[in-house]
Amino acid sequence: MTQAYKNWRLETDADQILWIYIDKQKTSVNVIDSDVMVEFAHIVDTLAQDTTHKGAVIVSAKKSGFIAGADITQFTKFKDIEESTQALIKGQEVFNRLESLKLPVVAMIEGFCLGGGLELALACHYRVAEESSKTRLGLPEVKLGIHPGWGGTVRLPRLIGALAGLNLILNGHTVGGKAAYKLGFVDAAPPRRQLIQAAKYYVLQKPPRHQASKIQALTNNKIARQMIGQFIRKKMSKKISPLHYPAPFQALDNWEQVGVEGEKAYQREAKSCGRLFFSETCQNLVRVFFLQERMKGLAKEIKFSPKHIHVIGAGTMGGDIAAWCGLRGLTVTLQDLDARFVAVAIKRAYALFKEKLKEPYLIQKAMDSLIPDIQGNGISKADIIIEAVVEDLAIKQSIFKMLESKAKPTAILATNTSSIPLDDMNTVLSHPERLVGIHFFNPVAKMQLVEVVKGNRTAADIVDKAISFVAKIDRLPLPVKSSPGFLVNRILMPYLLESVELLNEGVPATMIDKAMTNFGMPMGPITLSDTVGLDVCLSVANYLGKYFHTSIPSRLTELVTTKKLGKKTGEGFYKYDKRGKQIKPEQIATYDKPLDDISNRLVLRMLNEAFVCLREGVVADGDLLDAGMIFGTGFAPFRGGPIHYAKSQGIQELFEQFVKQQEAHGEKANILSWEETVV
Ligand code: NAD
Repeated sequence: MTQAYKNWRLETDADQILWIYIDKQKTSVNVIDSDVMVEFAHIVDTLAQDTTHKGAVIVSAKKSGFIAGADITQFTKFKDIEESTQALIKGQEVFNRLESLKLPVVAMIEGFCLGGGLELALACHYRVAEESSKTRLGLPEVKLGIHPGWGGTVRLPRLIGALAGLNLILNGHTVGGKAAYKLGFVDAAPPRRQLIQAAKYYVLQKPPRHQASKIQALTNNKIARQMIGQFIRKKMSKKISPLHYPAPFQALDNWEQVGVEGEKAYQREAKSCGRLFFSETCQNLVRVFFLQERMKGLAKEIKFSPKHIHVIGAGTMGGDIAAWCGLRGLTVTLQDLDARFVAVAIKRAYALFKEKLKEPYLIQKAMDSLIPDIQGNGISKADIIIEAVVEDLAIKQSIFKMLESKAKPTAILATNTSSIPLDDMNTVLSHPERLVGIHFFNPVAKMQLVEVVKGNRTAADIVDKAISFVAKIDRLPLPVKSSPGFLVNRILMPYLLESVELLNEGVPATMIDKAMTNFGMPMGPITLSDTVGLDVCLSVANYLGKYFHTSIPSRLTELVTTKKLGKKTGEGFYKYDKRGKQIKPEQIATYDKPLDDISNRLVLRMLNEAFVCLREGVVADGDLLDAGMIFGTGFAPFRGGPIHYAKSQGIQELFEQFVKQQEAHGEKANILSWEETVV
């Protein structure tokens, strides 16, 4: 084996084991593109003739991760379905030849092993994966609108049974090393120090390969497939629509029709995945993926390595921001006026660490990094100080004044305010350029977006550092201008208010919510308002109303006055039981017009505000606006974001509909054209 490869490196050790290092050129992370695959095919063919080695171990030469998956940039380059299908068939053939080698081949996995990377590993004879919080294995293809296409939908259910296999494929979940071992698609999950030994053991000892248990194997037979298929389809349809997300339904159909044995299964997988590349959903989800990469990339050139974060205010937001920073390996001091709030926040942090880190020593390490600090001793040591106290200008100003005198001169001073303009807050500072907004969304651990807010006086390098910090803690930074409501709340609020207006007009709440979940929102607007809290909605609406002269629906004010604040008080627009579960209204709601009328009206309202934000330069361009709405509110990702959606439907046409709609409701306010706004 003397051939030199561009993306692979081969070494033979003293035990005559061939170590096959994947090291994709010019990238920090391994992905499989056609070059990598062509070279790998050559390696596999050479291995088929190999008589000198006892076996091989495939391993990553990168600092982090095994293989992240197929190269997504190639997803949008296929000319037609024929080309995408052929590319999949070629990959399948390479992996089939790998599987049928006589020499034992082990995949030795550290870090992520996803999509095409796991499909390669599944075609090996054995897999060992490091037991570490960094190890993630899975087939997340459905998140990009396709399903696995290099044999993954066939091999995984065959190896571990249909229930566990389909669960991973249809949901796109990832699991750690130990969980993969328990499920049976990893043969061993040792700690790092034993990983090489474990890989060698499988090559040298060749123990029997893992097989599905008898019961697991039965789940793949024809009768079981029909029963399980029906059951899963029904369950899936309750959560997602095949019109919006066809890939998991397609993967389920394939498995149900042809099972996991023989050529047919692979052929059907390649054909259906080849077609899915050309679905609108896939095209939009791939676009969203690149938007996400763009946001992460905003921080790339910025050199800033904060180690210590000080958070002031240990309430809902401050407590969760502190916990998230601790989870991401930073030292955090957490301050509040009241030690009880800090204690509650630390208890919540423990639950988060337990859920995310699992291993007791990692949980302990994270707990040690999160320090209660009622006296504010951390202020003078911190690289970033985040203020998350009550939404009150005077209180916030007094805190920043104090911070300016006590903090390191290089420390970033940040506020998590959701509404107060930075240029109002920074008037008390000698160096107003130090103040930046770092606006997290609730719940912090779930919402990926963080708006990085620039006031008129904020220095550019401070904004850069804030962006870098946000990316370092694995959130998506969105630079926005400090205008009322910033971007996301500004666009969301008119949409929520319009939904209450619909209620006033007699449209049942359940129908309004259903119309929007059908459109693809994760939650309907009425449920969303109840979840956020109607008092919070009203105060944001009042605040934004001052600037934008919007009227507040009387129904909202009435509910807040009577202390019906939503989920947290057991009643808002809906009623809730003690566990916060929505109680179904006694009367079944009826609505005799198409639900699309409702969703059109609400979406148009949101689009108008989005175009106004673009016009005002609240955000740099339409792509970033789309990303903000998708990652900050869950705006139907398969539609590619509001601006992309408007473009795909015809901006002028939608604009005219909006104008008519407003006129019909007696609002002839100056509606500025959308088309000229698009960036
Ligand atoms: P909260 O009422 O839950 O917590 C505020 C905390 O600040 C309390 O624990 C209080 O004791 C503490 N506090 C008040 N004055 C203080 C002082 N002088 N020094 C130290 N601690 C002090 O509020 P929250 O919901 O976490 O909101 C905090 C900030 O985050 C607000 O500016 C809010 O607008 C913003 N925000 C809230 C959300 C949300 O959904 N709750 C989302 C994004 C941003």
